[in-house]
Amino acid sequence: MPKIQVLSEVIANQIAAGEVVERPAAAIKECIENSLDAGAVHVRIRVEEGGRRLMEISDDGCGMDAEDLPLAVQRHATSKLQAIEDLDAIRTLGFRGEALASIAAVSEFSVASRRADASTGSCLSVTGGVLGRIVPQAMNAGTLLTIRNLFCNVPARLKFLKSVRSESAAIQEAVLRLALGHPEVAFRLESEGETVFDFPARQDLSARIRSRFGAEVAQGLIPLVGSSEGLSLEGFIVHPSQAKPSSRGQYIFLNGRAIEDRTVVAALREGFQGFLEPRLHPMAFLHLDIDPRQVDVNVHPAKTEVRFRASDTVFRLVQQTVKAALSRAVTIAPADMPMDAVVRREIVKAAGPATSAPIQERFLPHQVEVQSQAPSRVEDRSAPYSPALLPPMSRPAVPLPPAPVLGVLPAVTEPRQENSSISTNVPTTISSASTEVPANVKRIVQLRKSWILVECDEGILILDQHALHEKALYASLEENTRTLDGGGIQNLLIPISVPFGAQRLEILREVLPALLGRGIKAEISGNSIQICRHPQILARLDWQVFFEELATQLEQGHHNTDPLAQALLALSHRSACKAAVKAGQELSQPELRELVRLYFSSPDLTHCPHGRPVAMRLSWTELERRFQR
Ligand code: ADP
Ligand code: MG
Repeated sequence: MPKIQVLSEVIANQIAAGEVVERPAAAIKECIENSLDAGAVHVRIRVEEGGRRLMEISDDGCGMDAEDLPLAVQRHATSKLQAIEDLDAIRTLGFRGEALASIAAVSEFSVASRRADASTGSCLSVTGGVLGRIVPQAMNAGTLLTIRNLFCNVPARLKFLKSVRSESAAIQEAVLRLALGHPEVAFRLESEGETVFDFPARQDLSARIRSRFGAEVAQGLIPLVGSSEGLSLEGFIVHPSQAKPSSRGQYIFLNGRAIEDRTVVAALREGFQGFLEPRLHPMAFLHLDIDPRQVDVNVHPAKTEVRFRASDTVFRLVQQTVKAALSRAVTIAPADMPMDAVVRREIVKAAGPATSAPIQERFLPHQVEVQSQAPSRVEDRSAPYSPALLPPMSRPAVPLPPAPVLGVLPAVTEPRQENSSISTNVPTTISSASTEVPANVKRIVQLRKSWILVECDEGILILDQHALHEKALYASLEENTRTLDGGGIQNLLIPISVPFGAQRLEILREVLPALLGRGIKAEISGNSIQICRHPQILARLDWQVFFEELATQLEQGHHNTDPLAQALLALSHRSACKAAVKAGQELSQPELRELVRLYFSSPDLTHCPHGRPVAMRLSWTELERRFQR
């Protein structure tokens, strides 16, 4: 083995550069972070050839003295911390003192700077890590960094650079992230001679979002604020209709630093539960502020990952704030509506309990076997979607559509079996419809086999029959899957066997003990999973689909959430969509009444699980106004 040698500073910096500046966008991010740390109000960035040929970053921050310049490009030289304890309470974006050293080691670099109280500026050039002389330079107060020919002396890294277009795109994204993290600072990005964006200083976050993402996203912005235990959250989520197939529209900031964090992402996703198809990702702009002592930002050289001391608190705050903001926002209906959620709840109370069990049966899922339910619970009808409250009937008065089945296999179509142990508790005829819908509902008409027009005392209401029913089904299934109890446990004499590939089996193996805790006993045998015992409530679950979904959840690595519940919810989603009445389906008057009753009985039924609105309301006052009466 050759003799051990200490690497020269130049080589050490070149190696370190690989981690800190793996591509032009990363170098730009580091430089802008320095500008922000220097208190800049205006930051200007100019790039050519995707940053390869030239990157120029100028700011009007505090600037540096001539004697600071050689230190700025020296590794482990920083003005931001002195002792290791300072790291615990770090408020600046930088602190490692290696960005400029790394960049200067792998480019033709120069830094020119002038403090506001100095009469002139000075400039230092560095080529391939070798320092030149410091020369005076006439300039405004602030700092100007010029990076030419990045990786000119490290051909190995140069090879890894992508096309000009994709490096430019990465730069845009990096600058945008910083700009959304600091709406108070002006940012101007010029790429290949064109202005990509030019955000003014002291801009409102929503205005910045509008100018970048357009009016549709801006209109869908839902503001949110929340705080708990030294942690605060502010920002916007975007209406589910703007959700994306990837998580690219999620901007998360912690004390002004753009971060990537699985806890926050998972909490955001859970906050959107029931408002969004599981395959979509909500857009969001979240600013978290936390006591720096509660978080470790020194996890990764690029500082985009953090470690929270109390990640549970973070998770809960984000999830609950998002959920609350979303529910509030989507409850406010699109046109002018005096009938807000509060009024609606009043109406429901006044209307009294529902008694139309058989029709209700047609609209709500009954995959739950109710044998073990105490009759006394059937009497309690205060919670409209609890599966326990859905008495099945022995002889349907209206033909039943297939009940939703968790999973995507075709729903079971044979008539439901009579069950003598429960049939006595259940009314067999449609009861008088007088209490079905609130008293303020005057008339119900189906329009084009798709919409339900409701005349009320306050105005008119138009319901989307599919969206409404889908949401009601989903709400009910969600409730079932959350608890998984209410039917006891079923032991299987012959285990159900579901074959899987080796890789997925390995992923699933880890989760089997957790499933056992929830009443699902499953074992791996050969190349399949054998289900030996499960909660009664899952009697009709398609296990193949369930385990596929579970494996997908686990592969995506949802953190801090319950993958079992996630998988079941994803299936509930699909089932609800499949089982709900469709547009184009003719409905009888009792069915229409039942849907209207469902609508009024829950304030949550404002948007279908895909985020489309369920109802449109128009008050008489608004109608009169429109006709200029
Ligand atoms: P760090 O940001 O971790 O301290 P850097 O290598 O990024 O390390 O920067 C080294 C030092 O150079 C900083 O601590 C700061 O004092 C100074 N510096 C860098 N950029 C600027 C700037 N734009 N304005 C003022 N000072 C700067
Ligand atoms: Mg820095």
